[in-house]
Amino acid sequence: MDSCIFCKIISGEIPSTKVYEDEYAYAFKDLNPQAPVHVLVVPKRHVKNLTEASKLSDNESAGFLRAVENTARLLGLDEGGYRVIMNAGENGAQTVMHLHAHILGGAKLSEKMA
Ligand code: AMP
Repeated sequence: MDSCIFCKIISGEIPSTKVYEDEYAYAFKDLNPQAPVHVLVVPKRHVKNLTEASKLSDNESAGFLRAVENTARLLGLDEGGYRVIMNAGENGAQTVMHLHAHILGGAKLSEKMA
């Protein structure tokens, strides 16, 4: 999608700090970290958010989920644990309309989710 900043990050048009990449997904550091480790994982195919997740093929969906697992392991978060957040739409406070999972970790996070 031409105007999508995450599509531009995936294509390399906008720079990012890459953490992980495979056929289905791309992971990069969040510009405005909310935890000691804050990385975004995005499917390479543009879909708006989870409300459009069924537009992804089964392979793309599974690849996206596996990329979250692989990214967390690469970051060394799998032992101590981490949080995954996916905002959707206005009430979910989503600001970038390309499906993404926030991986937050590197410290004991608050028990509050909102
Ligand atoms: P959300 O509010 O769930 O849509 O999250 C969007 C996230 O994208 C925010 O945490 C932003 O800090 C992050 N973000 C926006 N632009 C960039 C960028 N160019 N590089 C890395 N992270 C970005």
